[in-house]
Amino acid sequence: MPLELNDIFVTPDSSLAVDECFVYDDLSAEGEELVVSPVRVKGQVRNTGGLVELCYTAEFRYSKPCDRCLTVAGKAVRQDFVHTLALSAENEDNDDIIIVAGYTLDLFSLVRDDILLEMPFKHLCSEDCLGLCPTCGKNLNEGSCGCQKQAVDPRMAVLDELFSD
Ligand SMILES: [Zn+2]
Ligand SMILES: [Zn+2]
Repeated sequence: MPLELNDIFVTPDSSLAVDECFVYDDLSAEGEELVVSPVRVKGQVRNTGGLVELCYTAEFRYSKPCDRCLTVAGKAVRQDFVHTLALSAENEDNDDIIIVAGYTLDLFSLVRDDILLEMPFKHLCSEDCLGLCPTCGKNLNEGSCGCQKQAVDPRMAVLDELFSD
């Protein structure tokens, strides 16, 4: 759903409220499928002395498998974004400027790109996730397994080497 921005661009000190809820059903990051809730987008487009800016807050939840234990875990995200909008690329050095051709902004696509860029690289079900046992594959968050833990801790391996002779 494109945002019509004629009035904002031609009227100094004008603003337009943005309050949308977008549903994306095909989002993935680094080849992994992400299950993302509807994305709440709230903010405004503002013309301040000829400079047109879009500021908004995106709120959503996503879920994907934990990097350590592979259990699917959800996280809530609340992130602010600011973009400068221009009708044409006058200064091509500036990557931050969003070109709004014909006064219409494709907010749906912009929000999709923004939230994919902001996805955390590391995804853990909890900060102290214990992961899977490297020997038997048991999820150690659900209890310990019977495997011997020798040589699992690299720090201990280094100490063993130091004191071996
Ligand atoms: Zn985990
Ligand atoms: Zn084990």
